[in-house]
Amino acid sequence: RRGFYIGRFQPYHNGHQSVLERIACSADEIVIGVGSAQLSHTVANPFTAGERVLMLTRSLEGLGCPFYVIPIEDIQRNALWVAHVRSMTPPFDTVYSSNPLVMQLFSEAGMDVQSPDMYERQTHSGTEIRRRMLDGEPWEHLVPPAVVDVIREIRGVERLQRIAGSD
Ligand code: ATP
Ligand code: MG
Repeated sequence: RRGFYIGRFQPYHNGHQSVLERIACSADEIVIGVGSAQLSHTVANPFTAGERVLMLTRSLEGLGCPFYVIPIEDIQRNALWVAHVRSMTPPFDTVYSSNPLVMQLFSEAGMDVQSPDMYERQTHSGTEIRRRMLDGEPWEHLVPPAVVDVIREIRGVERLQRIAGSD
């Protein structure tokens, strides 16, 4: 069985990691979609698809289950989105998501959809982590160590603070 999990991963954090570690035990292989792949260098989407692929691949080295990380650009047409995703990914049978729109679109397409429990959603959210980066508050404990390394390498916090500034 092959499972599918999608997010924007701006950035990839311990909530995502906890879900993927749980899914890894119930699937033979995992396909991970990096959504809104075309977006980067904005306050809500600071990191490129390539940078997010790096965060995921490095963090999941010890997962113990083969995985594929596939960037997926947005199409502005929800009715066609499932077909778009499937055209970009290895075939999968089960979708793991708690995003209502993602769940609805895959259910309508007749796919098996499961909702993993959230992991400390209050702090473990991309929005909260980006806020902390902007405000100079600690965020490193909310992401896997490999993500701290990637964000340091690309000077990601400085990027976010710069693009949030006014001219
Ligand atoms: P943002 O605040 O930028 O939307 P996010 O934390 O919601 O970031 P996404 O990339 O939007 O991260 O989410 C990908 C998937 O991971 C979504 O289905 C989301 O519900 C799920 N997710 C997010 N945070 C957690 C968490 N703490 N525990 C489990 N799942 C989570
Ligand atoms: Mg989200």
